[in-house]
Amino acid sequence: MWSKVALAVIDFQEDFCPPNGSLAVNDGRSIAPAINHLLSLPFALKVATRDYHPVDHISFATQHPGAQPFVSQHTITSPENKDETQTTTLWPPHCVQRTKGADLIQEFESSKVDLILDKGQDKRVESYSAFGPPFRKPPVAMSGFGTKLKDAGVTKLFVVGLAFDFCVKHTAIDAAREGYETYVIEDATKAVDQSENALAASRAEMEQAGVKIIHLDSDELTMN
Ligand SMILES: [Zn+2]
Repeated sequence: MWSKVALAVIDFQEDFCPPNGSLAVNDGRSIAPAINHLLSLPFALKVATRDYHPVDHISFATQHPGAQPFVSQHTITSPENKDETQTTTLWPPHCVQRTKGADLIQEFESSKVDLILDKGQDKRVESYSAFGPPFRKPPVAMSGFGTKLKDAGVTKLFVVGLAFDFCVKHTAIDAAREGYETYVIEDATKAVDQSENALAASRAEMEQAGVKIIHLDSDELTMN
C-alpha cells in the first residue's frame, strides 16, 4: 500500500527557522520531531526540497529599489511568455546558495531522505512549488520533482515543511492539479502568517484544488 506513496519535506532550512533565519517562520523549528517521525514510515520515496537562490534573486526586496520585504508586491513575467505573470510578495534575502541559511536544519534527519532537490536557482523567476515556477506555457526552470514522482510510480503524496501558506501550499496545489492524491499534514508545517483567518484561507484554497488537510493522527498515516 505504501509502494506508491511519497513524502515531500519542503524547505526545512535555517533561513526559515528561528533563531537566526532571515525569513524565520514562527516556531518553524518545532516541527522537526513530527517530520522525523514521518521519515520512519515506509514511504516509497522521501524527497526534501531546498529553496536555493542566487544572491540577486528576483524575490529579494533588495533587488527592487524602494521595495519593503513582506509588504511590497512585484509582478514577475515569464521569461518565455509575456502573457504569463505572477504577482507576489517580496522577501528579505534568504536561502542564498552556499550560505548557512540555505542549509537544511540540523535537527531534520535529512540522511533518511532519498533525494534532495533544489528550486529557485533561476534568478528571473519565483518558485514556491516544489514542481517549479507557475509558468508552464512553456514550463520554465522546472525542478525535476514531477519527473521523480512519475519515475517512482507515485500516485499519492504527503506534503509537510515550511511554509504552510507558501511553498507547502503551492506544492500541494500543483500536485493535486497533476492528478496526485495529495495530503498536507498540517501539524508538520508552520505558516508565515499564523493568524486564524490566514490559515483558514490557505486551507480553503488547497481544499478547493482537491488537497486534503490532515493531522499526524490521521488514519491515512497508519495504513498497513
Ligand atoms: Zn525563496
